Amino acid sequence: MEILRTIEEMKAWSRKVREDGQTLGLVPTMGYLHEGHLSLARKSISACDRTVVSIFVNPQQFGPDEDLDNYPRALETDQRTLEPLGVDALFLPTADDMYPEGFQTYVHVEEITEKLCGKSRRELFRGVTTIVLKLFNIVQPHSAFFGEKDRQQLEVIRKMADDLNLDIEIVGLPIIREADGLAMSSRNQYLGETERKTATSLHEALQQAQQLVAQGESSAATIRARMRTIIEREGQAEVDYISVCDPNRFEELKVIRGKAMIALAVHVGKARLIDNCLIERI
Ligand code: AMP
Repeated sequence: MEILRTIEEMKAWSRKVREDGQTLGLVPTMGYLHEGHLSLARKSISACDRTVVSIFVNPQQFGPDEDLDNYPRALETDQRTLEPLGVDALFLPTADDMYPEGFQTYVHVEEITEKLCGKSRRELFRGVTTIVLKLFNIVQPHSAFFGEKDRQQLEVIRKMADDLNLDIEIVGLPIIREADGLAMSSRNQYLGETERKTATSLHEALQQAQQLVAQGESSAATIRARMRTIIEREGQAEVDYISVCDPNRFEELKVIRGKAMIALAVHVGKARLIDNCLIERI
């Protein structure tokens, strides 16, 4: 596995791959890798001739009171995890290289970034779209792989790719969970023992919602209320949002007809956890 630290090295490596007529997959991450990340890398390895994983804790997507300084990092372990998987290159740019002094260009997707996570994390999506477009331009992949755990992020990136006519296939992949249902996340690291147990209530609430819909419930308010009761039962969790919405535009629904997304963000101790599922009411 090649370790590429500068933008120029990365560009030269990917240029060579394209000149050789090979397809290139990109898996952007912030590191502290877990099975969720690895599922994206495995998919890219099976779908493309060459795979690049990037690790970059992107300062532009953290707000001033967020966890940029404490975000977990484990570069050596990440490297050792990726090597046997068959990843061809690991791109490790620095913040100074990505955002040199005088940097002033940002990508902003409008309406869909104002909903859900965009409401409480103002900087998030502008930072995400800006770094992802930069990575796309540097690596020039044929396909890029993202997790449905961050479904709003995935849709925002799809919108950017569509609106800006990018010639890159955006692939979304299912949420990988721990045995007890908790969606894997680098931020699960922040959870203490009892918080870790509380955290499973997000998945429990989603399962309960799915069950209600399967039993014929169509009222979004009823579903949200039941989910809130499950989350707040432990007393340690603080709900940021519980949403029953249209899965593409993220408009809140009153009544579920056809496809919908159920999504939630919950603070448990120092961690802000998110989860979601798609449902269909026929
Ligand atoms: P992050 O390092 O948290 O920025 O995540 C990098 C990529 O991994 C994003 O596309 C995430 O959606 C994806 N990802 C994170 N957690 C999971 C998970 N539990 N299952 C599937 N994909 C995930």
